[in-house]
Amino acid sequence: MSRETPTPASSPIPLYNPEIGGNAWNYVKECLDTAWVSSAGAFVDRFEAMLAERAGVKHAVAVASGTAALHTSLLLAGVQPEDEVLVSTLTFIASANAIRYCGARPIFVDAEPRSWQIDVELVRSFLERDCERRDGRCLHRRTGRRVAAIIPVHVLGHPVDLEPLLEIARAFGLAVVEDAAEGVGVKYNGRPVGGWGDIGCFSFNGNKLITTGGGGAILTNDAALAARARYLTTQAKDDAVNYVHNEVGFNYRLTNLQAALGCAQLESVDRFIAEKRSAAAVYREALSLIPGVQLQEISPKAFCTFWLNTIRIDAAKFGCDSRTALAELGRRRIQARPLWQPMHQSPAHQGAQSLLTGVADRLFEECLSLPSSVGLTREDQVRVIEALGEISEQFRGSSRAAA
Ligand SMILES: *Cc1c(COP(=O)(O)O)cnc(C)c1O
Repeated sequence: MSRETPTPASSPIPLYNPEIGGNAWNYVKECLDTAWVSSAGAFVDRFEAMLAERAGVKHAVAVASGTAALHTSLLLAGVQPEDEVLVSTLTFIASANAIRYCGARPIFVDAEPRSWQIDVELVRSFLERDCERRDGRCLHRRTGRRVAAIIPVHVLGHPVDLEPLLEIARAFGLAVVEDAAEGVGVKYNGRPVGGWGDIGCFSFNGNKLITTGGGGAILTNDAALAARARYLTTQAKDDAVNYVHNEVGFNYRLTNLQAALGCAQLESVDRFIAEKRSAAAVYREALSLIPGVQLQEISPKAFCTFWLNTIRIDAAKFGCDSRTALAELGRRRIQARPLWQPMHQSPAHQGAQSLLTGVADRLFEECLSLPSSVGLTREDQVRVIEALGEISEQFRGSSRAAA
């Protein structure tokens, strides 16, 4: 949709639309014209080089999805069946599923109440109280299982507090696999996320900051891990003539066609980030004036991309709860969304262990993500802000009338 076209007040405002433009047509057409459409080609190489530079790492391996990146990364980190892996409970389910694909067991960790990222102090107290290092392994005393890795998930375009997390993970010998699916362009202490741990993962799904339709990447500074990532994601082929495979691999590679779109997207990513940051500033200033609306706190160590602008609603002050507000926004054709059901509540991961404080449960109950497309117009943003103001006034009015 062109930025100049005014949006009629009744037209829908989506939560997140991809922004397709720049060289996208030219690059995809080049793939079609040359028949280089599959999982090798110049755009794959170029996309990987651009990604590595963006993430400040030596190697990027483009794969079919963020989920495939996570699964492969856990295998690269040496996660074995029956190992335990710490992971944020407040995340999209892919982070937890990847652990289960390895036959390993997630331990869900609650969120901190300020920026809603994994609570590093909970991780620390669990490791210090319930685990010990024995023969170079981290042993969970109660279960007798090895804790092999931790997946800090950078949620909503804000970074995890990485320095204390890495310090405690290193002290206990855990591999650190960053889920930076929502973290393209996000920085912690001035350095991009995805490059802080042993391995990092990006996603290029349709609703992420940049998209390849579907896709992901594995990021690492370790040449041997990168080589093994390529091997595992291309069916672990050891002999290309006789098709000899010494291991069970995966068909997880990104295609040249998708990488072509990815290259065009990455050429524009600085503009995407600048636009998202200025839209977030507008949201944050205006929304903070509505009673009962709280925003994610921005850590002084964070450079945020505001992937999804998310508000936390205090029903008593705002006038109604988040789900009523969600329905009211829907009536105004504004698409909002709650956060994900926390993983410790998910029927898919029933019976998993968790370290809980109640924060993620409350955030799930109280938060709504608001329209956050790169191409969101100021007019549409004003519509969202005014709608929330109206909803609050309407419900506060009716509760006063009832009192
Ligand atoms: C999107 C997302 C993923 C999965 O990425 P896909 O490319 O959709 O497979 C994983 N983790 C988080 C936190 C995500 O937001």
